[in-house]
Amino acid sequence: MIEPLTYEDVAEDYPKVFQGGPPRCGMGIGLGWENLLRELLQAIEDLLPAESDFKVDQIKEKFGGLRFYIFSQTLPEKTLKRIRKLIDFTEGLSFVTCEVCGSRGYAGTESSRYGWIKTLCPEHVEERSRGYGPDGTRRPTPYVEPK
Ligand SMILES: [Zn+2]
Repeated sequence: MIEPLTYEDVAEDYPKVFQGGPPRCGMGIGLGWENLLRELLQAIEDLLPAESDFKVDQIKEKFGGLRFYIFSQTLPEKTLKRIRKLIDFTEGLSFVTCEVCGSRGYAGTESSRYGWIKTLCPEHVEERSRGYGPDGTRRPTPYVEPK
């Protein structure tokens, strides 16, 4: 079970980032990525002017990684470029960060067997694998470190 990090958990700490309100297309990531996300939000907060048309469109997990979508038509290209770099950097780190607990994780583990791709630490791979047996049996699967 991945406990979600909600908009309410972080929004008020980054008033310039969220001046447009909650992400239009929602927010769906686990609590384990809170530190990662906060680093990104703070860095963007520091770059934004007091008022802008900046909006966060969506924050989600896809194929084991963080996705962070933004919108702005008026921010200078230089600022947008800087923000995009920060987003790329954070998305990269998400692939080695357990989405449940924030420990060192690995993306894609067990995905071929169970049809899911998540970035998890060995402990949470083990936990999540219970009940995911191909024939519905509830047996834990051994953790296999990716090559
Ligand atoms: Zn974990």
